[in-house]
Amino acid sequence: RIKQDGKNGFRFFTQDMNESTHDRLRLEHDLRRALENDALTLHYQPRLSLADGRVVGVEALLRWPHPTRGMVPPSEFIPIAEESGIIVALGEWVLRRACRDARGWLDAGRSPGRVAVNVSARQLLHGDFFDGLLQGLADAGLPATALELELTESMALTGHAQAHALLQAVADRGVSLAVDDFGTGYSSFEYLSSLPIDTLKIDRSLLRGPVPDARARGIIRAIVAMAEALGLSAVMEGVETAEQADFLREIGCPQVQGFFYARPMPEPELRKWLAAQAAGVAAMMCPAMSST
Ligand code: C2E
Ligand code: MG
Ligand code: MG
Ligand code: MG
Repeated sequence: RIKQDGKNGFRFFTQDMNESTHDRLRLEHDLRRALENDALTLHYQPRLSLADGRVVGVEALLRWPHPTRGMVPPSEFIPIAEESGIIVALGEWVLRRACRDARGWLDAGRSPGRVAVNVSARQLLHGDFFDGLLQGLADAGLPATALELELTESMALTGHAQAHALLQAVADRGVSLAVDDFGTGYSSFEYLSSLPIDTLKIDRSLLRGPVPDARARGIIRAIVAMAEALGLSAVMEGVETAEQADFLREIGCPQVQGFFYARPMPEPELRKWLAAQAAGVAAMMCPAMSST
């Protein structure tokens, strides 16, 4: 291929490669710095019970406001963090911050339920993960039952004895486990039934557009039924439209998350959102009391 493209083609190719490698190293460097300078932040997206609209949890989503690049999306920097190993320190920061914020919501008397934190394979399998997790909970004074870990389906933990033992130990402490992006990977029934999982988060790509077509309906209906049969709670991610919400209600999907209900938001905004939500639910349950 190099011969076909000729000398110029080859030179062009290596130059591109050098640029992208350079860009990656630059980002890696900036990411380390951002972590050291406490320049990263968490946004929180509510997860709701579809039947009554109550908040059942929030998911912590990492945000990196870069001084010159603007907001760098996790899809760009998480892979870099994973490959470089920064994910271990980064993940620990996320856990600590999320536990601390969740403790604050409890203290304010307005807990949104569990706080869910995304965990990468490399972070999970790092030797210090378990101790760091317990320490994070203890330092924040957060009960383990207020925390959930989201593991992506692609982590392929099936048959991984070390991961299995670890997750069992985590679950034994009372921390909940969710399989994230379900439906995009290759989970087997073996995977779902052998790991101590509570929740299945159905990947938003399975919605296949703003109005669920016959195929999307069939697939999601089947996953929700399977989750129920296995005693897992199903959460549909990425709900954006009223049509999707109607369909999910129709098939009895227990929980939802998505822009249609609430976007990920900074912590102070989440507090306001929770207060408004509580007022709304109170007004619905007891209209006379809130009419003053
Ligand atoms: P995820 O865990 O599946 O998170 C859900 C993603 O969907 C988030 O993207 C969220 O902003 C987005 N989302 C939520 N509702 C909607 C919707 O209605 N429509 C659309 N189009 N998108 C919606 P985000 O924040 O960009 O994060 C992307 C991925 O990056 C996450 O996917 C997760 O895998 C990873 N990630 C984020 N924060 C962390 C972290 O702290 N640690 C690790 N290891 N991974 C993280
Ligand atoms: Mg997630
Ligand atoms: Mg997800
Ligand atoms: Mg997803």
